[in-house]
Amino acid sequence: MQSFDYIISGGGCAGLSLALRLIESGNFSDKKILLVDLSFNKSNDRTWCFWEKETGLFEPVVKQHWEKLWFYSEDFSTLKDIFPYRYKMIRGLDFYTYCLEIIRRQANIQIREARIEYIHSDEKESYIILNGEKIYAQYIFNSVLFKKPFLNKKDHYLLQHFKGWVVESRNKIFNPEEAVLMDFRVSQQQGTAFVYIMPFSKTRALIEYTLFTKNLLKDPEYDELLRAYMKNIPGMEGYEILEEEFGVIPMTSHHFPARQHHIFNIGIAGGQTRASTGYTFQFIQKQTAEIVKQLTMNKEPRISRFPGRFRFYDRLFLDVLTRSNKDSAYVFGYLFGFNPAKDIFDFLDAKSSLLQDFMVISSLPKKPFIRAALRDMFRVTPA
Ligand SMILES: Cc1cc2nc3c(=O)[nH]c(=O)nc-3n(C[C@H](O)[C@H](O)[C@H](O)COP(=O)(O)OP(=O)(O)OC[C@H]3O[C@@H](n4cnc5c(N)ncnc54)[C@H](O)[C@@H]3O)c2cc1C
Repeated sequence: MQSFDYIISGGGCAGLSLALRLIESGNFSDKKILLVDLSFNKSNDRTWCFWEKETGLFEPVVKQHWEKLWFYSEDFSTLKDIFPYRYKMIRGLDFYTYCLEIIRRQANIQIREARIEYIHSDEKESYIILNGEKIYAQYIFNSVLFKKPFLNKKDHYLLQHFKGWVVESRNKIFNPEEAVLMDFRVSQQQGTAFVYIMPFSKTRALIEYTLFTKNLLKDPEYDELLRAYMKNIPGMEGYEILEEEFGVIPMTSHHFPARQHHIFNIGIAGGQTRASTGYTFQFIQKQTAEIVKQLTMNKEPRISRFPGRFRFYDRLFLDVLTRSNKDSAYVFGYLFGFNPAKDIFDFLDAKSSLLQDFMVISSLPKKPFIRAALRDMFRVTPA
């Protein structure tokens, strides 16, 4: 019978972040740890962007950062200086390679490539099943979403989906000091849509077309939208596509279970995606840091969630995003246009004070939120 102190189920962002934090703390070299994923032969399947003031644990793999962010809409544009924050970017493959190189050097961590068939925990035992074999652990940290969450009739559920190209332009058309966080000057017909541009140099950038809708588009449609957008970038006459990425992030007010006995859900499976924005990376860092802190104090991990009022704001915001694409562009515009960076980031990080909440909320257009609040109060089924 195989038994471990901890099993890390899923070796994506959350699983690898947790493993690295356990190693980095230096307090767990006597613990037997099993890390399982379908495959550790990872590709550059995603790019993470997030804001941070401090030097983070993954600073060595930050490919680029920006202190100035553009916001564009049909009505107005603004360039926001976000210092002392930095908007950072990490390429998926750099992150996976960096983490796995460190993890593979640890004698106490076993890595297995297999499909976890089943996961279970009750008062008596906790285990996963791999190739028909039960493997036991004191604690299981799980980031595998074994099935799509069963949605309640009142749950909002939207897909944030995006396709991006890393392009090399013939002309020097980008400013590597300034990124475009959101450009809403694109068709809002299919749903809330915007483009972001993360420039690496004067000629190279990641250009990503993002939509918040119920259904995905067909692949050629994303290409068409990207091409049409790029046609309007002055000087973008000749370019080469170096890499492409496609992704889907569920944005939902669904309440993901935090734990089941000794299974602790982490990452998206543990509800760490901010429902109204899709940002997850930094919440995963916060969650895994808290787990390591509690384990270090010999305490059973306590999985923290977004405080209730932020879940309420997210429900309203998802309602606005679902029902009115035009309002969504306004809301983001007012949010970025009329608030200092600190208030915006604290609010989006779900750590703002009530006063900051008031300042941010009172800067937003009122009507769509009042309508959304009334629907929420009377529990009208989402559109
Ligand atoms: C393309 C893309 C771009 C994103 N960009 C950003 C961003 O810029 N900023 C941000 O904050 N968030 C972003 N996100 C959201 C979020 O940060 C990522 O999805 C992040 O990877 C979530 O981490 P996770 O560990 O919960 O899930 P994952 O990273 O998906 O890890 C889950 C792991 O479980 C493994 N697995 C699945 N089933 C099994 C099984 N049965 N047995 C064993 N292993 C299994 C998978 O192989 C995977 O490695 C992005 C998401 C995507 C898809």
